[in-house]
This record gives sequence, structure tokens and C-alpha cells, in this order.
Amino acid sequence: MREFEYQRAHDVPGAVAVLGADPEARFLGGGTNLVDLMKAGVERPARLVDVRELPLDRVERTADGGLRIGATVTNSDLAAHSEVRRGYPALTQAVLAGASGQLRNMATVGGNLLQRTRCGYFTDVSKPCNKRVPGSGCPAVGGEHHNAAILGASEHCVAVHPSDMGVALTAFDAVVEYETADGAGQLPLDDFYRPVGGTPHLETTLPAGALITAVTLPPAPVAARSRYRKVRERASYAFAIGSVAAALDVRDGVVHDVRIALGAVASRPWRARAAERELLGRPADGASFAAAADAELAAASPLPHNAYKVPLMRNLVVALLTELEQEATR
Ligand SMILES: Cc1cc2nc3c(=O)[nH]c(=O)nc-3n(C[C@H](O)[C@H](O)[C@H](O)COP(=O)(O)OP(=O)(O)OC[C@H]3O[C@@H](n4cnc5c(N)ncnc54)[C@H](O)[C@@H]3O)c2cc1C
Ligand code: SF4
Repeated sequence: MREFEYQRAHDVPGAVAVLGADPEARFLGGGTNLVDLMKAGVERPARLVDVRELPLDRVERTADGGLRIGATVTNSDLAAHSEVRRGYPALTQAVLAGASGQLRNMATVGGNLLQRTRCGYFTDVSKPCNKRVPGSGCPAVGGEHHNAAILGASEHCVAVHPSDMGVALTAFDAVVEYETADGAGQLPLDDFYRPVGGTPHLETTLPAGALITAVTLPPAPVAARSRYRKVRERASYAFAIGSVAAALDVRDGVVHDVRIALGAVASRPWRARAAERELLGRPADGASFAAAADAELAAASPLPHNAYKVPLMRNLVVALLTELEQEATR
């Protein structure tokens, strides 16, 4: 492990000034991903700027009735927050489906969105990997890829994004707020993650040295009727091999509003807009739910060992929407 300097940031301008001046510095949230990657030699920062004492640890109502979640709110505090549990239950369920209690006590919202892939070639520095060493190749395509992407991947990288939280945030149109030495900015989560293309090492559109300060959720009455469902290879303490966040508003038997996002299928949490378009105004029944899942998965391009994800995701979407429909009409 490379030797590094450690310092605590006490205010946002001070934190972004350090990264603005030192391209080898990194922000440290809970450290639950970054420190592991440093031990593995994947990340080699010269300086860590600990952001946990910044005043970014609140969940607050916005003037329009949405929520503003500070970047250093821990996963545990986010999941337990009464406004999140009431207004965005899928977000609480997604966070609680991730990692373990101890990890959630340390992990922060900003760090969760920026955690790196769990592809085994990426974390093994003895192997080639386009994401870690651009141009070195992607051994996953012809090798171990049972948890690889089925949507939006390229021949250059088929890794999936591991976040559960990000899937629910994507379903609810979250906006990432950030600060740099040159000023503040905002990015809808939809535009936050870059398409893979030929540059899998470039993962987000955040400017260099940007500090995530908050994630804002716009008001969404439909989000109060939402759920998250995760499939994993162990009952707990495991990353998803497929997950769905969905919210459904049914009026007179017809889909009035719907949000769907998929996890562990792409390099980013995947908003299922084709499925949503297919469902709006249709009868809220199993046939419509299946047609919606098929509309989204028509673009799936699986590899030999992850083709199981196509029926898995279809079944997950149909099952979760059916549960939400039954809850709505109960
Ligand atoms: C054993 C294990 C199991 C896990 N299981 C799951 C799971 O099932 N589901 C799931 O979703 N996650 C899981 N995780 C991942 C965990 O959720 C992430 O490691 C965690 O959310 C990262 O948050 P952190 O604050 O610790 O980030 P850090 O490790 O501190 O940082 C991660 C990255 O974000 C950057 N960063 C941190 N904060 C900011 C900021 N405010 N602005 C800009 N950049 C920032 C850092 O520089 C770094 O690049 C698991 C982790 C482990 C170790
Ligand atoms: S899938 Fe992506 S992260 Fe995994 S080996 Fe290929 S390039 Fe690297």
C-alpha cells in the first residue's frame, strides 16, 4: 500500500481547495470501499481528505416537499429516517438490503454512489482490466462474467454498478449536488454515470476534484407506494445479482404513475423508462407488467454465463409490480 497523508476537512471550501490543488488527493467517506481498494493496490492516492466532519450530515425537507440528503449521512441514518421510511420506502429497503449493519454505520451517501465495481478482474491488479488500466483488455467478456451487465455494456467492459441505494435514488429522479474550487453544480442521477462505450475508466460526469455535498429527491407522491426487491447468492451480506426498485399508483384499475429502476444489470443503476412508457395508462395487471418488463429487456445483450438475468429480471419486475398493485387495491 502506498504511503499517504491524512487530513480532516472542517469546511467545504477548504475540502475542495485541497483536491483542486492536488490531483493525487481523494475524499474519504466511510472508507469502506476506498480503503479496501487501496489495500489491493487498485487506488493509490497520495492524500486522503476525510469529509465526515463536514456539516453535510442532515436529511431535510425541501421547500417543494422533497428531501435533501447530505452527502455524509450514513447509510444507517438514511434508512432509519422517518421521512425516508414514509415517503420513499423503497430507499430504506434498498439501503437495508446492502452490506451489513457495521458497514452501513460507516458508509456515506456520497461514497455509496461512487463505490467501484466488484468485478474480480478490476480488484486483482495482476489481471488486465480496461477500467483499471485503459487499453489493457477485458478478460470478463471471455472469462468469469456470471454477474455481468446485460444492458448498456460494451465489448470494453461488462461490469455492473454494485449500489443498492443508487437504484432507488434513480427511480425517484435524484439530483446530485456538488461543489468544486470553481463553484457549485448539480447533476441529475440520470446524467451522473457515463455510458460505458470505449472509456469504462471514466465513470461519472462529476468534474475533477468535485465534492458531492447532497442528493436531492424531488417530491413524488407515487414514491410513498414503493418497494425494493434484491436477489443475491446469499441471504444477507452479498451484492445483488439483480434488483428492482418500483413505485406504482393505480386509479380505477389503470396505471396512473409508475417508476421502475433496475440494479446489477448495467454499469449504472438503470432507469427502466421503456417499461414505464409501456405501462402508463394500461390496466394494472400481470399481462401489462410482463409486457413492460419485455419492453425494457428487449435491448438486453447477455453473455453466455449471465443470460439467466433476463428471465430473472422479468420475473422480478412482474412480481414487484404485482405486489404493489395488490397493496394499492387492498
Ligand atoms: C463486504 C461489503 C459488502 C457490501 N455490500 C454492499 C451491498 O450489498 N450493496 C451496496 O450497495 N453496497 C455494498 N457495499 C459497499 C458499500 O455500500 C460501499 O463501500 C459504501 O457505500 C461506500 O461508502 P463510503 O462512505 O465508505 O465510501 P468511501 O470508501 O469512503 O469512498 C468511496 C469513493 O467515493 C469517494 N467519495 C466519498 N465521499 C465523497 C464525497 N462526498 N464527494 C466525492 N467523492 C466522495 C471516495 O473518494 C471514493 O472514491 C459493501 C461493502 C463491503 C465492504
Ligand atoms: S468487466 Fe470491466 S471491470 Fe471487469 S475486467 Fe472487464 S473492463 Fe475490467
